[in-house]
Amino acid sequence: MGYTKDDIISLTRDLKVKFIRLQFVDIFGVVKNVAIPISQLEDVLDGKLMFDGSSIEGFTRIQESDMYLKPDLDSFAIFPWKPRDGAEARLICDIYNPDGTPFQGSPRQILKNVIEEAKAMGYTMYAGPEPEFFMFLTDEKGKPTIETHDKGGYFDLSPIDLGENARRDIVLTLEEMGFEVEAAHHEVAPGQHEIDFKYSDALKTADNIATFRFVTKIIAKQHGLHATFMPKPVFGINGSGMHIHQSLFTDGKNAFADENGEAGLSEIARYYVGGILKHAPGFTAITNPLVNSYKRLVPGYEAPVYICWSAKNRSALVRVPAAGGVKTRIELRSPDPSANPYLALAVILAAGLDGIKNKIDPGHQVYNNIYHMTDEEREKAGIKSLPGSLKEALELLEQDEVIKKALGTHVYEHFVAAKKLEWDTYRTKVHTWELDEYAEVY
Ligand code: GLN
Ligand code: MG
Ligand code: MG
Ligand code: MG
Repeated sequence: MGYTKDDIISLTRDLKVKFIRLQFVDIFGVVKNVAIPISQLEDVLDGKLMFDGSSIEGFTRIQESDMYLKPDLDSFAIFPWKPRDGAEARLICDIYNPDGTPFQGSPRQILKNVIEEAKAMGYTMYAGPEPEFFMFLTDEKGKPTIETHDKGGYFDLSPIDLGENARRDIVLTLEEMGFEVEAAHHEVAPGQHEIDFKYSDALKTADNIATFRFVTKIIAKQHGLHATFMPKPVFGINGSGMHIHQSLFTDGKNAFADENGEAGLSEIARYYVGGILKHAPGFTAITNPLVNSYKRLVPGYEAPVYICWSAKNRSALVRVPAAGGVKTRIELRSPDPSANPYLALAVILAAGLDGIKNKIDPGHQVYNNIYHMTDEEREKAGIKSLPGSLKEALELLEQDEVIKKALGTHVYEHFVAAKKLEWDTYRTKVHTWELDEYAEVY
């Protein structure tokens, strides 16, 4: 890693690149891009490329709409599904104000701020995601249905798993773009899949998740399927989560590892978990940002509901995989793949760092299946629940100063305003369930 300007110039020449796509995300994590002909490469590499930020969701006011795109040279990758003669390459960009300061409305910048904070404390965060998704058939008009193409289940093999071809192509494409894919398999529900790529530092992982989502959609489409990262597309079966494995390193050593600690965790790791558990109510609006996200976070479908940690128990919010040594990590199981990966990693890291700063004790780990406990038993054990709706999550976010500070005023305000509107639209619309349930009876 560590491309220079000259490297990029010769790479684009060798690979016959005709277009550069400058990529970034809006506050919802949706990838945006501008295609630039290769003749403009010098300007692009010098960060001289301007764009109108006012039309991007959650960005900026009309008066100050001229923004600069500064590419991160290490993000250079070819789009393998495009023709190779006259190829297209992408560069992920940071966004700068006309006065040369970083734009604080850019999610990538928000993550960079928290990464800096971690660095000042001596830590580098590594994160490895496990995104799940469904692939559905489309109707005659090309609109996604919720019909699946297969009847496969967890780790099933072909020929039952007809989505396997699409998934294999997705993996190959990602590998061509520089991803190291560690595992790809069918998930529990029909039409549901998971692709796990290797952990990286937090920024790279956020870039990877954003890229992974659109690549998956493009390749699925080539197979006549619609890939969706909607957390709970079908009632009554598992939803799609995006577990995030995480650890902090200091001076090249895993700061979470201590073979004598409970579950192999160091004191630092315990405090980090303490911070995660404390701020989980506050950051859930970010890690689970859709009205639909809360239909996944219910008992019975392998998604977490209760705020506690455990070494083995997969019903806990935080699990400690039995790895040990340099691989010691914690797994946060609540995030879903609709989250803005930059903001999600920013708030999770900020929560963990707050735990370390304030030595927050995560309490005892939970040994029993929490779903089998009664409400009283849970209350006695001090186990709280994740927010039950987007509305509740937004209220809890508003009360969490640590998470608000991590998001910064610009992102916080735009995010909450947009999400309140989303909730209100949902609240006032009449849904199919209501018609089915009430129209005849009343
Ligand atoms: N799909 C489950 C979820 O919603 C996770 C299943 C699993 O990976 N064990 O989180
Ligand atoms: Mg997995
Ligand atoms: Mg899974
Ligand atoms: Mg997992």
